[in-house]
Amino acid sequence: MKKVYVLILSVMMFIALAVSGCGSTTDSKPAAGGTGTAPEIKAIQDRGTLKVGVKVDVPKFGFKDPKTGQIDGFEIDLTRALAKKILGDEKKFEAQGVTAKTRGPLLDNGEVDLVIATFTITEERKQSYNFSDPYFTDGVALMVKKDSGITDLKGLADKTIGVAQSATSKKAIQEAADKQGIKVKFLEFGTYPEIKTALDSGRINCFSVDGAILYGYLDDTTVILNDRFTPQEYGVASKKANAGLAKIVNDTINDMKKSGELDKLMQKWGLK
Ligand code: GLU
Repeated sequence: MKKVYVLILSVMMFIALAVSGCGSTTDSKPAAGGTGTAPEIKAIQDRGTLKVGVKVDVPKFGFKDPKTGQIDGFEIDLTRALAKKILGDEKKFEAQGVTAKTRGPLLDNGEVDLVIATFTITEERKQSYNFSDPYFTDGVALMVKKDSGITDLKGLADKTIGVAQSATSKKAIQEAADKQGIKVKFLEFGTYPEIKTALDSGRINCFSVDGAILYGYLDDTTVILNDRFTPQEYGVASKKANAGLAKIVNDTINDMKKSGELDKLMQKWGLK
């Protein structure tokens, strides 16, 4: 009799636990950790921290304050919202600085769960990674030395443009140059500081990448031209196999769009 009583009690406790684990998520509660939870989300919850690749040299998006070492920006706030959704605490994330060249490999080898780093959604990249719906749209821009007198892409005919390896910039500018019937040359670099140094030394005549990124390198001697080429839609990227994680990320982004939270964040960072 006692055994039956214990058995009934255990079954009731099991049901109660299962029900509480499958409840819908709210802003303050972490994503469900019940039986339906994707393994990659469970792994993040067991680890207790969300690992994210972010930019550290893009003002307003992901920028590391050289004095405090603190990384802040619109994409860091997005990271906070995702940490809150997945782990119930916006502080539970670890940010790692990435570049256009390193962000893909860091996702591939599992060093980061997500990349939130001015990563343009392209058909080609979608073959390798899951991308959320876009959370921001930028355009490819051109930075030249003020004293060059160059005011538009035409002024760069037969000149050399510095671009980053693994970035969308070269293709965008090549297409625009073809349309305008001009020839341009490209030099590819691993990092943005190297491109800026090459521009300053006169090795190249122009530094091209998304406008947002160029702002991090603007100084008294340089100017960003008004032209914008090929819209760059930024998405949160995750490993192709991690469909559960991709879904929770996309749902969060879309919830933030609907609630007006994303707009508020853009306003906060002066991006509207
Ligand atoms: N957003 C562009 C891309 O994804 C520029 C490169 C970068 O984000 O660093 O290729």
